[in-house]
Amino acid sequence: MLTPICRSCRARRGDVVLDLGTQPASDFFPPATDPGPDPVYPLRMWLCAECGLAQLAEDPTVPEEPRGVEPAALVAQAKDAIGRVMASGLVAPGAGVLEYGSPHGGSWLPSLTEQGLRPVEQQADVIVDCFGMMHAPDQHAAVAERAGRLAERGVLLLQYHSLVTIIRSGQWNALRHGHFAYYSTTAVTRMLAAAGLTPWTAWRFDLYGGTVLLAAGRGGEVDSEVRALLAEENGSGVSDPRIVRSLQETAESSINALRGWLQRQRGTGRRVFGYGAASRAVALLAAAGIDNTMLLGVADAAQTKWGRRMPGTVIPVISPAELVRAQPDAVLLFVPDLLEEVRNALPALAGRWVVAEPTPTEEQVTRRIVPPARLSGDKP
Ligand SMILES: [Zn+2]
Repeated sequence: MLTPICRSCRARRGDVVLDLGTQPASDFFPPATDPGPDPVYPLRMWLCAECGLAQLAEDPTVPEEPRGVEPAALVAQAKDAIGRVMASGLVAPGAGVLEYGSPHGGSWLPSLTEQGLRPVEQQADVIVDCFGMMHAPDQHAAVAERAGRLAERGVLLLQYHSLVTIIRSGQWNALRHGHFAYYSTTAVTRMLAAAGLTPWTAWRFDLYGGTVLLAAGRGGEVDSEVRALLAEENGSGVSDPRIVRSLQETAESSINALRGWLQRQRGTGRRVFGYGAASRAVALLAAAGIDNTMLLGVADAAQTKWGRRMPGTVIPVISPAELVRAQPDAVLLFVPDLLEEVRNALPALAGRWVVAEPTPTEEQVTRRIVPPARLSGDKP
């Protein structure tokens, strides 16, 4: 494989910190009738030794990420963030605003327009980039372009899922084709400096386990919030390849645990299905080499995926109704946040849910004990 060149500082010195082998494009679900094989591409995270930017090592051409349904959490966070930004006084009504969008949804423009800002194309007083910049293969050019469109006294609002969060929470699944950069505030500060910008302040949010919004502009100084973030990152070793490489261990232990569990189920004749044809399930199944002898199908609520198969495998995507009809012995849930929702939506599957990560965990069935008095209809 080629030696990566840093997408920001152009250095060639660095380390591969997470290697998921070759992976299919995680958002392209081929029709079930398409026999494959699907094209696969290396998926590796590389940490630049010069500037500390964690990034995709390879830049394969994969289908563009489709615009997803906007999750409610993203909408709520945007409201919260805009409120905090307006309260800071860094952004005032009447200012011209330009937004770099993201396929994850979450446009701030409608709310900012409501606050009296006006959309512009160039020389913006306010530039909003909410999970947008990570989609740019050339990170140096992306920062330079944003700085170039920023008015002399303008403010750049840059929001990103923090690399510290990814490491601390073992979110190895954050590594995805099309997501070219995984930002620490330390690396972002260096990138901004190269374009003549300084982070003035920062706000933190719980979104995705830890999200940072930086406000940056020309001149000025970092405030105590930014200093605190930088100090914390320094303490947690976010630029140290040995620390970032813990993601590899987390990934491997999840992958091995899943494969082992599914092999044991197959050995005892249990019929296992999955739920949640999300991109994280695609990476997990592909890395673990799971086929349809171990996992008979993956159900998903999105009708557009029915009749298709999981990328890189022959495992079909089915509807929740088909899943219930199949009477599975166990259902691996690939999106743990959905547990309450699927339990309520599919009561026929009670007691069969197994949360896939970090290691397959069968749900604790809590049987509600109804006191005899209530059974007889008496008031307790
Ligand atoms: Zn670099």
